[in-house]
Amino acid sequence: MSKAQNVLVIGGGVAGLAVAIALHQKGVAVEVVEKNADWSVYHVGIIVQSNFIRALDQIGCGKAAVAAGFPYKGARFLSTGGEIIAELPGVSEVDGLPSDLGLTRPALHEVLTGKVKELGIPVRLGVSFETFEDTGSGVNVTFTDGTSGSYDLMIGCDGNYSAVRKVLWREAKPAFTGQGVWRYNVPRPANLEWSDLYIGKPNFHGKAGYCPLTPEEMYIFVVCEEPGNPRFAPESLADEMQQRLQGYGGLLGEAAKAITDPSLVVYRPLEACIMPDPWYQGRVVLIGDSAHSATPHLGQGAAMAVEDAVVLAEELAAKDVESALRAFMDRRFERAKLVGTSSIKLGEWEMHPESAGDPVALTDMIRRKLAEPV
Ligand SMILES: Cc1cc2nc3c(=O)[nH]c(=O)nc-3n(C[C@H](O)[C@H](O)[C@H](O)COP(=O)(O)OP(=O)(O)OC[C@H]3O[C@@H](n4cnc5c(N)ncnc54)[C@H](O)[C@@H]3O)c2cc1C
Repeated sequence: MSKAQNVLVIGGGVAGLAVAIALHQKGVAVEVVEKNADWSVYHVGIIVQSNFIRALDQIGCGKAAVAAGFPYKGARFLSTGGEIIAELPGVSEVDGLPSDLGLTRPALHEVLTGKVKELGIPVRLGVSFETFEDTGSGVNVTFTDGTSGSYDLMIGCDGNYSAVRKVLWREAKPAFTGQGVWRYNVPRPANLEWSDLYIGKPNFHGKAGYCPLTPEEMYIFVVCEEPGNPRFAPESLADEMQQRLQGYGGLLGEAAKAITDPSLVVYRPLEACIMPDPWYQGRVVLIGDSAHSATPHLGQGAAMAVEDAVVLAEELAAKDVESALRAFMDRRFERAKLVGTSSIKLGEWEMHPESAGDPVALTDMIRRKLAEPV
């Protein structure tokens, strides 16, 4: 039984970059393969809360992320007409860092890739694994560029449609939850300091809102039922999103008029996959979306990915691999499951309002719970 000394990370997204940085900082040799040759990410907005900022700060990236984004006061629930129903102000857990932050996905990517480059962590782009074999004390891996290597541990950080998960957990697949999400970036009104969620639109099984991203930008989102999981013609996306925003008042109704360019609309059907405990088999472990992809109802996907990374690196630095993986699960499983199942529940309540609970109370409870240390 020995500690991990060299680790392979599959996937250079949020979880993969965060765990590579965290492991390097603990003195563990780590390398990353990322299948996307240009390492690009969509220009969408990402909403994060104090637990994400705290976890990112633990790997030395918190202040850079805050500087790259727009800190705001918290979440508000509004009526369809735009009247405020409830305010959930954020509570910061780290001195000097905000509780709620909006930033663009490229800005977050820039922060993480910048740190990886600064630390000199090897990243091979346009490369994935071809095969891997668990030897009991490590993993032998062949890569798509014809090379091969041996590692003490392989970490699958390859997202919601994980190829690593497909090899070891064949039955686990993301399932369509019944809803889709529409996003579009528009100018930020100078006085906007909250993320607003408009709820209660009659016969509309979803919600809509906006969140500041930078001093100049905010993004509008709509989450709603999409019966039959339809595919939309690219040229129709702006009209489709506009239709879903009809009937909203307040700032949302006004801002929605700027949704005109179909090529700038990002639409995603919501597909979730929450793996049971454990997320590891032998010397292969999953973290981030590959282990627990949820819907965006709580804005916690990126936070769960970075928390996984920090906790896994802490445990691997302190214990032999087998004990570290078990300790990692003990610290992560219930928390990630709570986020995943609560996110899905919020969507179900939107689709079945006749049997819905209280979304404001559930969101408030989760925000408070997640502000507690991991
Ligand atoms: C449109 C959209 C908006 C979102 N908004 C929010 C938000 O507001 N707040 C929030 O917290 N979360 C949000 N999320 C969720 C959040 O982005 C994810 O939870 C988070 O990115 C998970 O990180 P990850 O590293 O596990 O996966 P990803 O970030 O998806 O990274 C996976 C990486 O693995 C690579 N990869 C895939 N397959 C392979 C392979 N076989 N070999 C090598 N590399 C591979 C991919 O190219 C990618 O770089 C959003 C997601 C989407 C799609």
